[in-house]
Amino acid sequence: MPEAVAFPENAVQVAEILRLATAHGFAVTPRGAGSGMSGGAIAAQKGLVLVMTRMNSICRIDADNFIGIVQPGVVTGGFQKAVAQYGLMYPPDPSSADFSTLGGNLAECAGGPRAVKYGVTRDYVLGLEVVLPTGEIIRTGVKTAKGVVGYDLTHLLVGSEGTLGVITEMTLRLLARPETVETLSVWFGQMEDAARAVSAILRAGIVPRALEYMDKNAISCVKNYLEGGLPEDCEAMLLIEADGSFGETTEAVKQIKKVLADCGGRYIESARSPEAANSLWKARKAISPALYTYGPDKINEDIVVPRSRLPEMVEKIRLMGEQTGLTMVSFGHAGDGNIHFNIMLDKNNPAQFLAARQAVDAIFDFTLALGGTISGEHGVGLAKASYMEKEISPEVLALMKRIKAAFDPAGILNPGKMRL
Ligand SMILES: Cc1cc2nc3c(=O)[nH]c(=O)nc-3n(C[C@H](O)[C@H](O)[C@H](O)COP(=O)(O)OP(=O)(O)OC[C@H]3O[C@@H](n4cnc5c(N)ncnc54)[C@H](O)[C@@H]3O)c2cc1C
Repeated sequence: MPEAVAFPENAVQVAEILRLATAHGFAVTPRGAGSGMSGGAIAAQKGLVLVMTRMNSICRIDADNFIGIVQPGVVTGGFQKAVAQYGLMYPPDPSSADFSTLGGNLAECAGGPRAVKYGVTRDYVLGLEVVLPTGEIIRTGVKTAKGVVGYDLTHLLVGSEGTLGVITEMTLRLLARPETVETLSVWFGQMEDAARAVSAILRAGIVPRALEYMDKNAISCVKNYLEGGLPEDCEAMLLIEADGSFGETTEAVKQIKKVLADCGGRYIESARSPEAANSLWKARKAISPALYTYGPDKINEDIVVPRSRLPEMVEKIRLMGEQTGLTMVSFGHAGDGNIHFNIMLDKNNPAQFLAARQAVDAIFDFTLALGGTISGEHGVGLAKASYMEKEISPEVLALMKRIKAAFDPAGILNPGKMRL
C-alpha cells in the first residue's frame, strides 16, 4: 500500500509533487488505470501514487495533419471513438482498450491485435510533454510528420514504465480509417498447424490487420461467445482480420482462405455480420479474466519469438504442460510471434508454485535461444525484474542505470522496477 495518493489535474501540480519528492526522498509511482500486467503501477517502495486519470482531456484532433493531442488519463477506446468521428484511426488496440489509459499505454509501449499490420504504440508517438523527477516540465519530439533534431528522447520515454518521467501530454499520429474490415475464423486439428498457417499467410505476402491465436483451453473458457460452439476435433483457432479498400480486402480474404485450406484449416468462416465479428472479438478479449476457471492463480507471460519459430515454441509450451501436470493456456498475437502463455496454479501449493517457476525459467531460456524476447508488451515492472539479466547484458544494464540516474538523480520515480 502507498502512504498517500494524489490525483493531479495539470502538469504544474505534477511538477510540484515531483520537486517535493526529490527534495525529501519519497517514492512516487505514476498510475493510469492500474491494468498493467507486470506490477508497474504498484507502490513497491510505498511513498505516493500519482494517479493520472483526472488529466483526461482530448485537447485537439487535427484531421488535416493527422495528429491528436491528448492528456495521459484519456481511455484508449474513448480516443479511438473520438478520432473515428473525423474518419481517422488510432491503430494501437490493446485488448484492455476499454479501460486502460493512453499514458499507461505509452509507458508500457502497449501492443494489440492490430500490431501485425500497424505496429505498436511507439509507432504513433510524435512528441510528449513530460515532467522530470526533478520537477522540470519539458517537451520532446515534434508535432509534425517527421523530425530528427537531437536525441530521440520521445522514444526513450515510450516503454520506460514510468521510471524516467511522468507523461502529462502526448502528440499522437493518426491514420485514415480503412474502407472495410472483414473478420475470419478458422480451426485446426493441431496447435502446430495453426502456428504454421500464421507463417504461411505472411510468407504469401498478405498482411492481415490481425492474426490472433487461441488454444483449446483458451477458447473453451469463452465458448459462450462463439455462435457455432467449439468443434470437438480441433485444438486451436485463428482469428484473422483484413482491412483496406473493398477490393483489397476481398482479394486478401480470398488469398488467406486459400492458404488456410492448404495448411489444414477447418471450418473457415467469414463473420456474417458486424455483430458476429464483435462476438468473436469479445471472446478473444474475455480470455484473460476468464482463465481463472482453471485455477485460483495464474502466471501470465508474454514472450515473442521470430514468427517462423512459432511452431517450436507452441510445442515447447505443450511439453512443459505435460511435464509439470499444470494447465497451460496460450493465446495471443501470433502474427507478431507474441504468445501469452498462462500457467494456471494454486500459489499456496508449494509443489505447484515451484513447478510453475521452473517452467517459466525453461520457457524463457528456450525463447531467448530461438532469438526471441521475454516480453512483447506487458513490460518488466516487478514481475519480470528478476529475469532482466537473462536478456540484457551487464554493460547494457549499466548504461540503463546511468540513463535512469541522469533523469532521476534522487531515484524517487517508480523505484524498484525494471532492476533500475
Ligand atoms: C484484460 C487485459 C487485457 C490486456 N491486453 C493487453 C494487450 O492486448 N496489449 C498490451 O500491451 N497490454 C494489455 N494489457 C495490459 C495493460 O492494459 C497495458 O499495459 C496498459 O498499457 C496499461 O495501462 P494502464 O492505464 O492501466 O496503466 P497502469 O497499469 O496504471 O500503469 C502501467 C505503467 O505505466 C506507468 N504510467 C502510467 N501512467 C503514466 C504516465 N502518465 N506517465 C508515466 N508513466 C505512467 C506506471 O507507472 C506503470 O509502470 C491487458 C490488461 C488486461 C487486464
